[in-house]
Amino acid sequence: MTGATVSTQSGVPTAGSGVMVRAEQVHKSFGSLEVLKGIDLEVRSGEVCCLLGPSGSGKSTFLRCINHLEKINAGRIWVDGDLIGYREHGGKLHELREKEVAAQRRSIGMVFQRFNLFPHMTVLQNIVEAPVLLGREKKSAARDRAAALLERVGLGDKLRSYPGQLSGGQQQRVAIARALAMQPKLMLFDEPTSALDPELVGEVLDVMKDLARDGMTMIVVTHEIGFAREVGDSLVFMDDGVVVESGNPREVIANPRHERTKAFLAKVL
Ligand code: ADP
Ligand code: MG
Repeated sequence: MTGATVSTQSGVPTAGSGVMVRAEQVHKSFGSLEVLKGIDLEVRSGEVCCLLGPSGSGKSTFLRCINHLEKINAGRIWVDGDLIGYREHGGKLHELREKEVAAQRRSIGMVFQRFNLFPHMTVLQNIVEAPVLLGREKKSAARDRAAALLERVGLGDKLRSYPGQLSGGQQQRVAIARALAMQPKLMLFDEPTSALDPELVGEVLDVMKDLARDGMTMIVVTHEIGFAREVGDSLVFMDDGVVVESGNPREVIANPRHERTKAFLAKVL
């Protein structure tokens, strides 16, 4: 899976070109329901892309396609120069083997609306589990990294707590630390603060801001316009399976060009 071997007619995003995610004409249907109708999108390395749009517009489906949780019907997605799910050879696409798919998935962290922590494991065990199970690290190294990550998300004193003993905001910060433990090159956030009580939203956004400052490439589905404006390098507005408009967050928010963007922003602002 070397990025350099991937080539297409349409301009090749190879590793090192500064492009972390590139989607071209991505289509996805569930039965007769077409949910993604040709998504084009580019996220450069180190950038934060905020993905906005009404419920049902296909935002989650798009993130899931990047992370192999859904298979696209047409189009292409590259992450860091690697074509997701396929290898190109002799002008044809060949599906990747299970092992190769697993390797691609490992390099992409995902944080969901619901934290999905293992309730019977301590915070530390939750974070150490995947890297050790997947043979990425020895247990002692994984523990050290987990402790450092917990420190980073402000939970250095909660190593031995169980998820049930933590607030929603704390659990979500553990979920972020857990995703980071795999040392991903890309982080996907799907409405990470939507399930939280309002007073807990800020602490999670602060952790995300910190990550962004550190140069992590992120795609963030969110209704938090303040976050998009302050932290986002780009804003993509989706509706009904298409990208309606995109650009600099501050400009799009101040001057939306399309009626659908205006209507949506009027509701969430
Ligand atoms: P958003 O995240 O923007 O709210 P989703 O990507 O979750 O939108 O959903 C887009 C559309 O796809 C919705 O109509 C939803 O019902 C449908 N959908 C999502 N996942 C599935 C699935 N696994 N099977 C059938 N329909 C689905
Ligand atoms: Mg969604």
